[in-house]
Amino acid sequence: MISGLPTSGKTTRAKQLEKFLSERVANTPTSPSNPQPKYRLHYISDTTLSIPRSVYDLSTKPEHARSANASEKDARAKISGAVKRVLSDRDMVILDNPNYIKGWRYQLHCESKAVRTPSCVLQIGCGVDRAKAINEERLRKKEEEETGEIDEIGDEEPYSMPNWENLVFRYEEPNPMTRWDSPLFTLIWEDEEDRTQKVFGDLWEAIAGENRKVVKPNQ
Ligand code: ADP
Ligand code: MG
Repeated sequence: MISGLPTSGKTTRAKQLEKFLSERVANTPTSPSNPQPKYRLHYISDTTLSIPRSVYDLSTKPEHARSANASEKDARAKISGAVKRVLSDRDMVILDNPNYIKGWRYQLHCESKAVRTPSCVLQIGCGVDRAKAINEERLRKKEEEETGEIDEIGDEEPYSMPNWENLVFRYEEPNPMTRWDSPLFTLIWEDEEDRTQKVFGDLWEAIAGENRKVVKPNQ
């Protein structure tokens, strides 16, 4: 589970992690006599599932609808369905999503336990001001695109500003003292190649290393 503020660099790190893990997977045979890779790697994000940013938007909904935010609930059902379809003790999933609610991370942790495979969280640390500036820049580009000033924006949609502010407000920091948020790995914006590779290596050890935690469903 990737976790972090909106427009904080999650997808950038998730793609770096995907590259790192795919190389490790390719170099990890099932056994000395079976050269087939032991693991398969899957990348799932709101973008791959065509979930728009607006599902997180509470600002456009009336007050009474807020407690039962149907669109976000539907999105979560879609995401957990997509994860469950592939996750196994041989199938790794990188879930590139804000993953900002602790109860949701708990749920995903339980899903992984149910198929006897470990989970972990990679938190992306980025100052609120920087993350906000990125969203504002994306909004500006989108506007230019709509007015025909530029041809196309990247594949990443901006959040409406009230939606963005609200997601920051609702963000529930991972807590490494809890089972569902551990092991917890962290990368900040400034972390360069060396540190990034070290963190990814530690993450690999936790989920696929010799000493990976054996998971029992009733623990
Ligand atoms: P998110 O997935 O959280 O919305 P993105 O990964 O799409 O964020 O990043 C937003 C922008 O910030 C992108 O244009 C990306 O190139 C840039 N960016 C993200 N992380 C870093 C970083 N660590 N160093 C430099 N630029 C970054
Ligand atoms: Mg992203």
